[in-house]
Amino acid sequence: MQMSNLLDKHFRLSDAQKAALHKIGIRTVRDLLYHLPARYDVAGGEAQIAGLVSGQEATLIGTLEKLEAKKGWKSRIPQTQGYLQDATGKIKLRWFNQPYIAKMYADGTLVRAVGKVTGSEGKLYLANPQLQKISATELPETFSENASTPSDLFAVYPESRGVTSLWFRSAIKKILTPELVVEDPIPKQILKKYNLPTLQTALVWAHTPQTTKDAEAARKRFAFEEVFLIQLERGRERAEQSREKSFSINPPRQDIDAFMQDFPFEATAAQKRAVDAILKDLYSGRPMSRLLEGDVGSGKTAVAATAAYATVHTRPAEQTFGTLQVAYMAPTEILAKQHFESFIKYFEHFPINIGLITGSGCYKFPSKVKRGASTAISRAQLLKWVAQGEIPVVIGTHALIEKAVHFKHLALVVIDEQHRFGTNQRKKLARKESRLPHLLSMTATPIPRTLALTLYGDLDLTLLDEMPPGRKRIITELVRPSEREKAYAKMHEQLADGRQAYVICPRIDEPDPDKAFALMAKSVKAEAKRLKEKIFPDYTIDILHSKMKPAEKDAVMQKFANHEIDILVATSVVEVGVNVPNATMIFIEGAERFGLSQLHQLRGRVVRSNHQAYCFVCPESRGEQTLARLKALIDAKNGFELAEKDLLQRGPGQLSGAKQWGISDVGMEALKNLKLVEAARTEALEIVTKDPNLLAHTLLQHALFARQGAMHFE
Ligand code: ADP
Ligand code: MG
Repeated sequence: MQMSNLLDKHFRLSDAQKAALHKIGIRTVRDLLYHLPARYDVAGGEAQIAGLVSGQEATLIGTLEKLEAKKGWKSRIPQTQGYLQDATGKIKLRWFNQPYIAKMYADGTLVRAVGKVTGSEGKLYLANPQLQKISATELPETFSENASTPSDLFAVYPESRGVTSLWFRSAIKKILTPELVVEDPIPKQILKKYNLPTLQTALVWAHTPQTTKDAEAARKRFAFEEVFLIQLERGRERAEQSREKSFSINPPRQDIDAFMQDFPFEATAAQKRAVDAILKDLYSGRPMSRLLEGDVGSGKTAVAATAAYATVHTRPAEQTFGTLQVAYMAPTEILAKQHFESFIKYFEHFPINIGLITGSGCYKFPSKVKRGASTAISRAQLLKWVAQGEIPVVIGTHALIEKAVHFKHLALVVIDEQHRFGTNQRKKLARKESRLPHLLSMTATPIPRTLALTLYGDLDLTLLDEMPPGRKRIITELVRPSEREKAYAKMHEQLADGRQAYVICPRIDEPDPDKAFALMAKSVKAEAKRLKEKIFPDYTIDILHSKMKPAEKDAVMQKFANHEIDILVATSVVEVGVNVPNATMIFIEGAERFGLSQLHQLRGRVVRSNHQAYCFVCPESRGEQTLARLKALIDAKNGFELAEKDLLQRGPGQLSGAKQWGISDVGMEALKNLKLVEAARTEALEIVTKDPNLLAHTLLQHALFARQGAMHFE
């Protein structure tokens, strides 16, 4: 049996199972073996309802009954109540301030519930339990009957509908036999140097461990392997880039200084440093690959505008007319429009043509008829001018790289909040050019250093770690669930003054993303209704969630920006987004369900105003630990600090954006370990430097190929 064999060759799979497996990227024997357990349970780790005592943290398995939304008897706090029943008895369940949970589970749903036993003898209840649906085949009793390993550790797998942990355990048992050909892609001397188990051993230890120590050693190896492969990829990417030529951009320094002196503000020291680093790259003749990372409001646009200025201030080689061109890509249409407006202002005294391409229309600045204003023009006309090089700066959404957009001399690509943008995409953009454009990538997503090293191994990093002076600090208040009236009163005051607010509904942890989005949409609707009926009847309230179509989302955001909406109830989709300076409040429900850095980013939505801004952080649980953790948000100096805290306290899965990075949970675990990441990086770079095409490392070549293949299926 080969690792690359398709699973159907060895298993009879139903269509439903096949679909479920494909959904989580499992097609081959290798995919299945690399589907590592989410955790290990000790059989019999669950408590029984009959013996519970107050104060105990308990894990229970049972069926749900009669979940309903209620108001607290005295407190009037909205909550969900219901019961959990097992063979030994029944216990009450209570979720404070989470009335929507009542709608999420049908009677009779079998769950694992983890929570604190609270209340007095005879009136015990489980407070704010975390629920996880389980299937009947998974009950620990059932398992121990079939148990084949002498240890009582058993693997619990990330599931998708149709394939249970039990299925994974038995399928993997069938595959992990001596007939399986296991070739280890990681060179032996590296394994030895870092004391990592071989692939063969690690597979056995990961799926059927005898001890937790073995399981950990196996996970460490897979974590290393993943980071190592990513580093190889990035290392090759970087090597490839450094062989390419780019435009040499070398405008007179005093012109750049003049451009910056015309800003309506004094650039921060961090902005000046960033500009210097970028100018040096642009001059080098090799393609720049730089990531500019800075909190929301740190002034990345001004830096991008300066890089753009340097570019359009340079003539194409051997030409005495025309200029080099800049493409600026934004993640949404509204943001593209906003950048267009900002660029018009930044270039006020240095007039050039600026174009805007979006799905819903094209614009050009300045207008021929009315200088100082922009005008709508046809797409065909804009594309023609861009192709002739007459529009040096073109701003747009993804549409910019996709279709018929041709540049004459594209020398700089700026992308805002897009995670990966490889050499191939750059080549596509450059098209006929024999030179690769420079790349300036910008992000406000604060990530820890280990992650930056891993994800952006092919990029040079510049931090904008300083905020423009004189910003009013956002007042962040921890709102205990029982004190929300006070926060609402404050919001009333501000709304009456003409301000606007965001209300963010909690994240719902549910393994199936479709289901999670649907549930969150439901809770957004319910909360909007509650606020309209009970709290803010005189204001216009609308909603935003990920189930909405992009055009619908854009329309709502546009209405919010025009102040046709006072309060926007949303999921965290507003996280990366728009500048609505009049929105000065954000109220975050279920705050403990977000990572600190994600909270920080949400709070960043209200940073742009001249008015005093407020952030109300309201957790569901009243635990001291939760409150202490959230207090970090009040004290933190910047997003990087919070990202590091998140990584240490909550683990890598909680970093915002984790899903889109294409790193598995195990790979993310590695990020807690700077030494491991650095080791993987050093080894990968050493190999790439000596053997850029991995000719002497065919197994590594295959592993990289398998990884890229897997990414394409996602
Ligand atoms: P972001 O980094 O989030 O993209 P922006 O570039 O949109 O931030 O800048 C946010 C706001 O701060 C803008 O209104 C911009 O004009 C202003 N700004 C940028 N740099 C400075 C500075 N050095 N001093 C004062 N205001 C600044
Ligand atoms: Mg920005």
